[in-house]
Amino acid sequence: MSDNDHHHHSSALQVNAGVPQPEQVSKSSVERFKRARRKVRTAREYADGILAGNRILLSQAITLVESSRQQHHELAQDIISQCLPHAGNSVRIGITGVPGVGKSTFIEALGIHLTALGHKLAVLAIDPSSTRTKGSILGDKTRMEALSVDKNAFIRPSPSSGSLGGVARKTRESIILCEAAGFDVIFVETVGVGQSETTVHGMVDFFLLLMLAGAGDELQGIKRGIMEMADAICINKADGDNQQAAQRARVEYQNALHLFPPAPSGWTPPVQTCSARTGTGIKEAWESVQKYLIKTRQNGFFQENRMEQKNLTLHEAIDDILQSDFYNNNKIKASLPQMQKAVRGDEVSAYVAARQLVDLYDQQHS
Ligand code: GDP
Repeated sequence: MSDNDHHHHSSALQVNAGVPQPEQVSKSSVERFKRARRKVRTAREYADGILAGNRILLSQAITLVESSRQQHHELAQDIISQCLPHAGNSVRIGITGVPGVGKSTFIEALGIHLTALGHKLAVLAIDPSSTRTKGSILGDKTRMEALSVDKNAFIRPSPSSGSLGGVARKTRESIILCEAAGFDVIFVETVGVGQSETTVHGMVDFFLLLMLAGAGDELQGIKRGIMEMADAICINKADGDNQQAAQRARVEYQNALHLFPPAPSGWTPPVQTCSARTGTGIKEAWESVQKYLIKTRQNGFFQENRMEQKNLTLHEAIDDILQSDFYNNNKIKASLPQMQKAVRGDEVSAYVAARQLVDLYDQQHS
C-alpha cells in the first residue's frame, strides 16, 4: 500500500471530496467539517487500518492507548483485541544507556541498517521527561533524522507520565499494535538509568546496554542489576582518539560479566565496541542479536520468556484494575483520609488499617 492510500483511508478531507462546497463557507459548515474530522472511528476501522499498514491510524490508536480517558481506554482495548491475533511476529529489543551515550545515534545507524536489509522497524521511546514537556524526546528534531523519513521505520515517543505500571502497559500495547501493522523489529528505548529498565526488560526479547569508555569508575557507574539484565553490551563512541579506551573498557566489562551467574537463556552476553557515528560495529551488534535468536529459539528460552512475560502482564493488569477499583470506591474515598490520620498518629498499625479498608471494600462485592 502506498502512502497515498494511507492518506485516502485516514483523511476526512478525501472522504468528503465529492461534497459540493458552497462559495462562502458558512460558520455551520465549518462546524460540520470539524465534527467530521473528529469523527469517531470504530475499533474495527482502526484495526483494519492498522492491519493494512496505515500509519496514521496506528498513531491514533497508540494515542488512544496512552489516553487516560475511560472512553479511549475501552476503544483501545477493543482495537488491541482485534490486533492481537496478528501480533507477536517481531523481534523486540530494549535499548538503554545513560543520556548522551548515543542511543538515538545508535538507533538511527542500526535502524537504517535494518531497513536496508528489508526489515520494518518501529521505535518506541519511553521519555521520562515528557511529564514536563510533552514528547520532548523527539521534539529535538536532530534525533534520528534519516530514520524519521524512512518509510520502513516508525518512530513514536511514549510519554512515561503516570505510574511505572501504566507506562509498561501502554508500551506493551503499543508493541502489539506495531506488530499488527507489520513491523517485524521493535526497539523500545529507555532514557536513563532508573527502574524503567526492569520494566522494559520484562517486555523485550533482547536487552542491549550501551556504555561509554573512559567515564572514570565505569563499573560502579552503572547499576549491577542493569548489567545483569543485558544480553549484549556495546561500548559506543569507539572512534577517533577513543578507540583504545573503548577496547580496554570492553575487556573490563567482559571480565566483570564473567562474575555474574549464567543467564537462564544459556546465552553469554558479548561485549562489543561500536561507533554509532561512523557505523563501525553496528552490523556486528545486529549479528549478536541474530545469534541470540538462533540459540534461544533452539533451546526454547525465547518462547518460554514470552510466555512468562504474558503471565507477568496478566498479573500487572490484575494489580492495576484492583488498585484503581479500590481507590475509586466511594466508601474507600470516604474512609481513607481518616485511616491515614490514624496510621500517622500510631493509633493503628498500617497493616490493620489496610486490612480494615480492604474488608470495607470487600463488603460491597460479597
Ligand atoms: P542519547 O542521549 O543516548 O540518545 O545520545 P545521542 O545519540 O543524542 O548522542 C549524544 C552525543 O554523542 C551527540 O552529540 C552525538 O553526536 C554523539 N555521539 C553519538 N554516538 C557517537 C559515536 O559513536 N561517536 C562519537 N564520537 N559521538 C557520538
